[in-house]
Amino acid sequence: MAAAGGQKRNAMQRTSEPKFDFLEELRVVPNVMIVVAAVVFVAAQVGIHWLFHRDPHPPNGDVQIAIGFFGGSVLAFFTLLVGYVNRDAKRRGMNYVLWTILVLIIPNAIGYIIYFVVRQPIRGNCPQCGTTVNPTFNFCPKCKFLLHPACPQCHRSIEVGATFCPYCSADLKMLAPEARS
Ligand SMILES: [Zn+2]
Ligand SMILES: [Zn+2]
Repeated sequence: MAAAGGQKRNAMQRTSEPKFDFLEELRVVPNVMIVVAAVVFVAAQVGIHWLFHRDPHPPNGDVQIAIGFFGGSVLAFFTLLVGYVNRDAKRRGMNYVLWTILVLIIPNAIGYIIYFVVRQPIRGNCPQCGTTVNPTFNFCPKCKFLLHPACPQCHRSIEVGATFCPYCSADLKMLAPEARS
């Protein structure tokens, strides 16, 4: 039973969410935010060294450079993340203005955690009419194209156009011709 549930979930994930590719995700970040992140990094170096300059007992030079580099990297990373959330929320059909503001104002990066927990799946297009569809839809709301066919015998998700169910070997053409459309 547990194995069957796992297989079903895998099948759902394969159709709704492409596998995570870090470089592919990085491309979502708008170029302007990459420039902003670089500026933030440089500004952090200046700011941190200015603070050390005012400190009557500053740490030695190597420690200053390390703190500056680390602090700048963290700030630059969060700048990129703001850009990512902005574009990612948009392509998922979420309120991207609201989410950009939320991740910026909620302290301790909690806004990002909430975002990654609640974000909607990436929307795709209906293979038949091109309408933007939510991956949880079973049918295209415009042309009724069957987006997620299920085996009529074992009710597991199957691929569009399959002739036989890969789980129970049911003949899909015989059982439900419309499942192959
Ligand atoms: Zn359609
Ligand atoms: Zn089946």
